[in-house]
Amino acid sequence: MTPVFALVDCNNFYVSCERLFNPSLKNSPIIVLSNNDGCVIARSQEAKDFGIEMAVPAFKIKHLIKQHNIRVYSSNYALYGDISSRVMATLESMAPQIEIYSIDEAFLNLTGFSSLGSLEDYGQKIRQTIGQHVGVPACVGLAPTKTLAKLANHAAKKYAATEGVVDLTNPERQRKLMSITSVDEVWGVGRKNAEKLDQLGIKTVLQLAQMNKARAKSHFSISMVKTIEELNGLVRFALDESPAAKKQLMCSRSFSERITAYDPLREAVCEFAARAAERLRNGGQVCGAVNVFIRTGICDENERCYSNTATGKLSSPSSDTRTILKVATDLFDSIWKEGYRYAKAGVMLGDFCDPNKVQLDLFAEPSTQINDEGLMSVIDKINQGGRGKVWFGGQRPQEDWFMKRAHLSPAYTTRWDDLPNVN
Ligand SMILES: [Mg+2]
Repeated sequence: MTPVFALVDCNNFYVSCERLFNPSLKNSPIIVLSNNDGCVIARSQEAKDFGIEMAVPAFKIKHLIKQHNIRVYSSNYALYGDISSRVMATLESMAPQIEIYSIDEAFLNLTGFSSLGSLEDYGQKIRQTIGQHVGVPACVGLAPTKTLAKLANHAAKKYAATEGVVDLTNPERQRKLMSITSVDEVWGVGRKNAEKLDQLGIKTVLQLAQMNKARAKSHFSISMVKTIEELNGLVRFALDESPAAKKQLMCSRSFSERITAYDPLREAVCEFAARAAERLRNGGQVCGAVNVFIRTGICDENERCYSNTATGKLSSPSSDTRTILKVATDLFDSIWKEGYRYAKAGVMLGDFCDPNKVQLDLFAEPSTQINDEGLMSVIDKINQGGRGKVWFGGQRPQEDWFMKRAHLSPAYTTRWDDLPNVN
């Protein structure tokens, strides 16, 4: 039986969450800002139409915000996380298997569903059900591989005539869409590879699909060969498999107020380390190196500057929060200096590898942490469930103290005090 994957992706997700509890925002231009109200991370279509780019710093578009009366929101992750889990719960009821790919995206295995009726109709049903149960808009792409499903979803978003659903199971349609789509839209290709492909004369997705595999292998990694095969309808990425593993992972913040004391800065570093470790586990990887940095802001002549960074190796690769926390706090202690006003800190994990191919250190002490995988997966489940958090001693999980969130909407669905009132 030909496999069928669906990629369901919510439209302008953060903006749609904000609109959900504030219907007056419908059709008005909205943007959502990153932590500390720094950069634009989500835009409604109306805001896009006014030329507001993704990732632009908020202060650079002050005039546009004023001129077009654009509504500005601080990111409200309590709300987005909860709406996301409702979308995912709805999707789980509509497919035998799903892979939650990001906060607003999931792959569904719909193999065999075409014998029950048109796949396009089922895609519409998915959209309608999410609309009915949760209230946010989404697009659906259907295809025999995940890479093609991503492409189908891209088309469903881009072309209004599709009404939000593209069934790309037909090879003729696949070729047609691939011939008019730029190669940088392909899942896992990335900007750097797209530039390299461009230099090789490969500009459209169809050209990539027709690229000689040996040639691809000589210029790129094996992942590119798999991508080419996926574009030709061969499943190379099953559910829970992705084309490119990340090479490093960074978690850092600028503080809304300078930090001068040891304890709060150490807590911040622990928090970043714990979050990075969680993201590492989500990607199914382990890391071999941890880097910690702390720095003061831009200093005038009255203020002393200090910036330092330290990197440590793990005795054997791990994704255990406790191991990573221990290394991160030791590194922090080695660079901490009293008497400065710190503006930013961060933790970066690197030296990634596949947990199944870990080389153990012959001379290292055997791990005393028993059943760490089980413990970590329980912690991740609790923390990602949206109902509460558990954390390690060094962390300080309230994020509000280092974030500026001047335009935050209420946590409508997760805090009793914030429940919307109906008169
Ligand atoms: Mg989306």
